[in-house]
Amino acid sequence: MEKTFGIIKPDAVAKGKIGEIIRIIEENGFKIAGLRLEQLSLEKAQKFYEVHKARPFYNDLTKYMSSGPVVVLALEKENAVRAWRDIMGATNPIEAAEGTIRKLFGENIERNAVHGSDAAETAKTELAFFFP
Ligand code: ADP
Ligand code: MG
Repeated sequence: MEKTFGIIKPDAVAKGKIGEIIRIIEENGFKIAGLRLEQLSLEKAQKFYEVHKARPFYNDLTKYMSSGPVVVLALEKENAVRAWRDIMGATNPIEAAEGTIRKLFGENIERNAVHGSDAAETAKTELAFFFP
């Protein structure tokens, strides 16, 4: 079994979509190994997205991620990293496949409803950061 890390982002939490997103996760065979509602400080959001520090959207992204509560998730399944990215859909909801979480609930390329680790190594780091 592999573990990955996910976040239900502030836009989806604010719209009352926690339940629907968790339902999709469970229906896709993931075991929820960790789950917590958390208000990120700007500093914590900046640290989490440090890899994107040089990107033009870094300031907006970290402000947005600390603008309201998020749900942090530890998800377990065979090939969990790939499987979670698949049901999330593409970064930009406009380009995301039908039925994916970002297609269903994302507002735009920034406010795209969910985060997911992009590789096994990243998942380890991100899980340790939120579930020490
Ligand atoms: P993903 O979340 O699909 O792994 P990235 O790691 O490239 O995508 O980007 C991290 C997050 O930064 C995205 O989920 C999104 O919230 C935001 N983001 C990415 N690209 C842009 C962009 N061009 N403009 C604004 N925000 C962006
Ligand atoms: Mg990423």
